[in-house]
Amino acid sequence: MVLLEAPVVMVGRDVVEVERRLRAGELACPCGGGLMPWGHARRRSVRGVGDLRPRRARCGSCLVTHVLLAVSCLLRRADAVDVIGAALLMKAAGSGHRPIATRLGRPASTVRGWLRAFAGNAERLRAVFMALLVQLDPLTGPLPSHPGVFADAVELIGGCAAAARRRLGVVGAVSPWELAAAVTNGLLLAAGPAPELSNTN
Ligand SMILES: [Zn+2]
Repeated sequence: MVLLEAPVVMVGRDVVEVERRLRAGELACPCGGGLMPWGHARRRSVRGVGDLRPRRARCGSCLVTHVLLAVSCLLRRADAVDVIGAALLMKAAGSGHRPIATRLGRPASTVRGWLRAFAGNAERLRAVFMALLVQLDPLTGPLPSHPGVFADAVELIGGCAAAARRRLGVVGAVSPWELAAAVTNGLLLAAGPAPELSNTN
């Protein structure tokens, strides 16, 4: 695992396509400026994704350097976001961290860490994804409410992915958890300030 020190911009899954878009000047900084290639971050290994050498890019306007993180990954987590999301779904359905760890073939302590981190963020994630759901589908009905905010947040992430598919079709289709990674800039499980809704067209 590598600690990414630079601000992160979430990009697509296809490394070749990301490289092409970066070189064509099609990737934008959160400030609105254009991003240019700026070397690479350190190689990291993500289980379920493989070895990655994240691209660095520099903004021509604000001069900030960004790490381009694929939506299949979360910041500072060594597992693909879909694996982590599978654990969150099982927890929301009532499983404990040990059976989940056995099912996924991951250490119990690792799974417990994901569940705790998500639980710690669940309140603000629920708010972020509720706002996104209303943006994606203003006519959406109220989602079923659960006894816990954890399951509410998990359900809203799935609801947002379904709404995005209805609205955007298969173009740009990502899994619910890749959508969650993109919306939170890879910070789904990170402690700290609330993730802002980012522009994830
Ligand atoms: Zn910028």
